[in-house]
Amino acid sequence: MPDTGVIQDPTQLRTYECDGLAHYRVTPALVVLPETTEQLAGVVRACAEHGVPFVARGSGTGLSGGALPRADGVLVVTSRMRTIREVRRADQRAVVEPGVINLDVTRAATPEGYYYAPDPSSQQICSIGGNLAENSGGAHCLKYGFTSNHVLGAELVTPQGDVVELGGLAPDAPGYDLLGTVVGSEGTLGIATTATVRLVRLPEEVRTLLAGFRTTDDAGAATSAIIGSGVLPAAIEMMDALAIEAAEAAVHCNYPDGAGAVLVIELDGPAAEVEHEYAEVERLCQEHGAFELRLAIDATERALIWRGRKSAFAAVGRISPDYIVQDGVIPRTALPEVLRAIAELSSSSGVRVANVFHAGDGNLHPLVLFDDAKPGAGEAAEKVSGAILDLCISHGGAITGEHGVGVDKAAYMPKMFTGDDLDTMQLVRCAFDPGNISNPGKIFPTPRLCGEVPGKRKHAHPLVEAGLADAF
Ligand SMILES: Cc1cc2nc3c(=O)[nH]c(=O)nc-3n(C[C@H](O)[C@H](O)[C@H](O)COP(=O)(O)OP(=O)(O)OC[C@H]3O[C@@H](n4cnc5c(N)ncnc54)[C@H](O)[C@@H]3O)c2cc1C
Repeated sequence: MPDTGVIQDPTQLRTYECDGLAHYRVTPALVVLPETTEQLAGVVRACAEHGVPFVARGSGTGLSGGALPRADGVLVVTSRMRTIREVRRADQRAVVEPGVINLDVTRAATPEGYYYAPDPSSQQICSIGGNLAENSGGAHCLKYGFTSNHVLGAELVTPQGDVVELGGLAPDAPGYDLLGTVVGSEGTLGIATTATVRLVRLPEEVRTLLAGFRTTDDAGAATSAIIGSGVLPAAIEMMDALAIEAAEAAVHCNYPDGAGAVLVIELDGPAAEVEHEYAEVERLCQEHGAFELRLAIDATERALIWRGRKSAFAAVGRISPDYIVQDGVIPRTALPEVLRAIAELSSSSGVRVANVFHAGDGNLHPLVLFDDAKPGAGEAAEKVSGAILDLCISHGGAITGEHGVGVDKAAYMPKMFTGDDLDTMQLVRCAFDPGNISNPGKIFPTPRLCGEVPGKRKHAHPLVEAGLADAF
């Protein structure tokens, strides 16, 4: 690495001590900023040779502490690897480096009539490498699918420092779906140094509708009715009264007065299809109690409707000094019941909860509000936040919909998975990273060295006993 790509000064190192989940902080021993795959692979090889842990970091916007550094390790930051290498119009693909900002892929593809569909609300700043590692979602993933549906190939630096190609331009590579294993693995299986992503044709027509409802129950029922009718909007997003209050204070989005919930519904596609679907959506919203329907008449109005939704996390800072952004997912039809249970939790604990989420996907983002200056408030908020995850699990959902497990939710993994499940996942990790140096301590509740016999297990892993897997 050139000197300019290595940070050792203790003050400068602190810049990297956390990601978007700022209450976990660790100062890394060393930060490197490679500019090429060769430099990055060289760093990883040096780590492997000396048994030093390393952590990949894109833009550091993660909300589960995935890019939290190690005090005894190297933080490998990809923000200098920002070249869009190719936009292949005829293939509908782009090949990009890992530090490329999500929205920049769309900016590069738009002149060709295409865009990159997965759109996390952080899309103006988060990196494609981070998106790949988290299998990130976004408002338009309801219709177009998550990151895993859009990453078709990747160059990966393995934890040994080898450079390998997974997937590629052609579809359906033979053999095991190793690319599918790496997408969503939160940096525990190596570092992606390029991604080949799918580009989607810009739609002929887009219509954005804002619907005001008296209650979240009505808005939830309208969501299920729309999808049950066979219409698949590009996005259906919901915000409750507290989230609306915060967004109004921050960006003056002028949402309907007196709404207990709003839905932002976007339809896209061929003009004739959108026209037909719009009539259906309007009818279903009215049938389920919408008291105001507002169709954006131009790009400015559409942007204002979306500004309210996309600024919602940050906007909550206007109504509370501190808050936890929770991320859980449930079957969409359970929305009204789970939202009622969250409201009950909130009133019995006295902890305020604002809800803003991808309603179409059943991906909840309860924002649990507290004031850290008040003794015990942080603990009470943590308790409510954990109870919300329990609700998600008990309704057939999961502890994360899109933000990943990281360090934050590792302790919740045993609530969803048995010891055998977790050990089986560890076998996968060990196959890539037997030295346990690639982002160790993330995802799994009890980091184990590969080959280490699990504490409680008295016998071999069932898959090993059955002759289906080897322990390393
Ligand atoms: C305001 C706000 C809104 C958000 N909205 C959404 C949303 O709508 N949907 C959503 O899914 N997320 C959302 N997020 C979370 C976050 O933006 C995403 O998880 C994003 O994908 C993280 O990208 P990043 O570049 O910041 O990654 P980082 O935070 O830097 O890293 C995230 C994880 O990826 C790993 N990693 C990073 N680069 C690589 C690489 N090249 N190879 C292998 N592993 C790597 C890291 O080790 C870490 O585990 C939001 C965050 C904020 C702050």
